[in-house]
Amino acid sequence: MISFLDVKAAYDELRPEIDRAIARVCASGRYILGPEVERFEDAFASHVEAAHCVGVGNGLDALVLILRALGIGPGDEVIVPAQTFVATWLAVSWAGATPVPVEVDTDGALISPEAIEAAITPRTKAVMPVHLFGHPADLDPICDIAGRHAIAVIEDAAQAHGARYKGKRIGARGTAAAWSFYPAKNLGAMGDGGAVTTDDAALAERIRLLRNYGSAGKHVHQIAGVNSRLDPIQAAIMAEKLPRLEAWNSHRRRIAAFYLEALADLPVDLPKPADWAEPVWHLFAIRCARRDRLAERLRRTGVATGCHYPVVPYRQGAYAGAAGAASFPIAEDWAARCLSLPIGPHLELADAERVADAVRSALQEAGS
Ligand SMILES: *Cc1c(COP(=O)(O)O)cnc(C)c1O
Repeated sequence: MISFLDVKAAYDELRPEIDRAIARVCASGRYILGPEVERFEDAFASHVEAAHCVGVGNGLDALVLILRALGIGPGDEVIVPAQTFVATWLAVSWAGATPVPVEVDTDGALISPEAIEAAITPRTKAVMPVHLFGHPADLDPICDIAGRHAIAVIEDAAQAHGARYKGKRIGARGTAAAWSFYPAKNLGAMGDGGAVTTDDAALAERIRLLRNYGSAGKHVHQIAGVNSRLDPIQAAIMAEKLPRLEAWNSHRRRIAAFYLEALADLPVDLPKPADWAEPVWHLFAIRCARRDRLAERLRRTGVATGCHYPVVPYRQGAYAGAAGAASFPIAEDWAARCLSLPIGPHLELADAERVADAVRSALQEAGS
């Protein structure tokens, strides 16, 4: 069986380093924040070309804390893509604001800059582009629109560690970027983890307070914060993984380039990276007719697949009716036809060849 993603393979590759890092934290007696978290924050900030990094508990909290630090809450609207992982929307809801969906594009299910302006109202406080599947959203026009309307750009970068937009890393192009270190992400912890990066020193400082009970020192709580701190064991593990990220992303690129060529003549829609983008291929999502049948055929021939995501957020129970009368046909097409093929830093090219062959045979079987 070719698995969809082997999250343990990174540990197999770096076992001595990771074991040593964990033992070092255990022996240090510093189990909350401290030097291991600071060291990782510095390394990650410089990797994503941002001035500041604040480690938090997970990716969802990273988004929520950015919103709260910007004072966005009840009565405010935040523009989100109509198709994304539901966490993007949930962050807005947990901050007390209202997610306002806009249509995505056909090439990569990314928020359409043209659709943003029409959704802006006097209540709009931010737009939240998602660098979905590891491909950066088109930030220049998005930042331009946001600048003209004086709203924030909060990047959901949970799937795009190391991606570049017009030559520069994703990390501080907008107001702030939120990261997840969920184990399956391009840079994954061995548990939960997250971070905020930004060039705005005051914003970083506010999030630093918010993540730790609003505390600037013992018994001092000027703002009502939460407990959402990056764990030092996770920080120490990721400090070992970070120097491998570039090579791991290059391997993902090789797999993606292979799929794009090997599947080019088949009756499926392949992802279309923009020429200004250097995506990091968190996922390789194709679109095809009768997706569930193709997935089942692949499973029977020993190929596991994923689906990101079969239900648009506004059709989830949590958001029933949230889109109102609006409809988002491109977002719905992604939900109806998307199928994610195996991709990852440790997937053998020979296995990717078997995946491509299996897709070809399954489609021929379907056509006959
Ligand atoms: C993973 C993910 C998140 C949430 O991250 P967690 O660490 O699981 O909370 C948010 N947005 C997107 C697009 C994601 O893929």
